[in-house]
Amino acid sequence: MIQIYLFNTLTRKKEKFKPLRKKLVTMYNCGPTVYDRPHLGNLRAYIFADTLRRTLEYNGYKVKQVINITDVGHLTSDADTGEDKIEKSAREKQKSAWEIARYYENLFKEDIKKLNIKKPFKFPRATEHIKEMIELIKILEKKGYTYRTSDGIYFDTSKFKNYGKLAQFDKKELKPGARVEVSPEKKNPYDFALWKFSPKDVKRQMEWKSPWGIGFPGWHIECSAMSMKYLGKTLDIHTGGIDHIDIHHTNEIAQSEAATGKKFVNYWLHVNFLLVNNEKMSKSLGNIYTLEDLENKGYHPLAFRYLMLTSHYRSLANFTWQAIESANLTYKNLLEQVSAELITNKKGKRFNKKEALKEIKNKILKIINDDLDTPKLIAELWNVLRSEKELEYKKLFALEADKILGLGISEFLKKNKIPTEIKKKVLLREKFRQNKNWEKADEFREEILKLGYKVEDTKDVPVVKKIVN
Ligand SMILES: [Zn+2]
Repeated sequence: MIQIYLFNTLTRKKEKFKPLRKKLVTMYNCGPTVYDRPHLGNLRAYIFADTLRRTLEYNGYKVKQVINITDVGHLTSDADTGEDKIEKSAREKQKSAWEIARYYENLFKEDIKKLNIKKPFKFPRATEHIKEMIELIKILEKKGYTYRTSDGIYFDTSKFKNYGKLAQFDKKELKPGARVEVSPEKKNPYDFALWKFSPKDVKRQMEWKSPWGIGFPGWHIECSAMSMKYLGKTLDIHTGGIDHIDIHHTNEIAQSEAATGKKFVNYWLHVNFLLVNNEKMSKSLGNIYTLEDLENKGYHPLAFRYLMLTSHYRSLANFTWQAIESANLTYKNLLEQVSAELITNKKGKRFNKKEALKEIKNKILKIINDDLDTPKLIAELWNVLRSEKELEYKKLFALEADKILGLGISEFLKKNKIPTEIKKKVLLREKFRQNKNWEKADEFREEILKLGYKVEDTKDVPVVKKIVN
């Protein structure tokens, strides 16, 4: 067995991964706020989470994965001010908040499917877990962690020992107001809303009764309630973007641990930003792109996945049109390379699959178990494909690596077996070639090319590849 190492934000170190149970890993990935189509940076986070899941599965674990759907309560600031993102989007698009939420949830699910992201165990919606959130707030209230202001029920961070451990607030010089807005009613600058009251002057579309008054849940309590409902009081892994460390995840820890008295998460993993042309994505720069934008330009969604995996998840990644153009070509070339088949009637050397598989698995685990080094795995895949190894070995390596990379190689091979008709033509052409009838041989090569395949003459046997457009 090769030990898995993951970089844990809690300790800022690569740590040996040891799950709570022997064969099962519980993992929660902060899901999308469904007020708009996910942009490429959002999608990077789910490609990362999926690659992590696949890595754990490759190591023999079963993964119980939850990706929540935030369909209420996420305000335009990540703290407690501003308008609810869903209600705002609904107003702008003249739809109901419910229509907006379901519409963008579906688009999210379509996008991640195209990116070959495996379906999680659950996609819980915040609006369907209001009861659980209220229960959790009641526990916090009973234990004395909450207080009331004119606009909601707040969590008193001064009561929670080690508040901000994940964000390492003790090591940072914090100025109140830098991270969150100072509100005169808050007891401490970092206190946050658990429950917000519906405003008196505006009628909200999404609101619920609670012991404290009609309103809606805070964004952070959603994730605590849903993750603990499906995965238990302590989770093995929780992931999200690095922008969640200081507020969202810090607050998730405070309210969960205050309620249960147990450690909430053993391993916190955070994925870095995706830049566009080395700049932060923003509406004002007009550089927020979606998967649909790529598809409209003829790029394969999996070429985007490929591009994302060429950067390590903890590094900044950069998207440019040139980069996706090149990733798209490389991705097609990859499929073409793995489709290669030797066409011969002669019996070749016997390929020892069992032995090769052992060697390949070992090689892959060594690379990927080092904090998910996908760039290195991709580099190794190309090394193998360009090497002098047998075709069988190359194909096996590609198929194994793809269990982690998720580039759709096995699906492609299943759908694109070299047809017998093509094989026959290749064999015929080989006869002409051996008889030095170059003209006829060329004629056949052209014909095969027209049918979408190319023949390459290696030392003793021809190799045929599917042309990928
Ligand atoms: Zn969350």
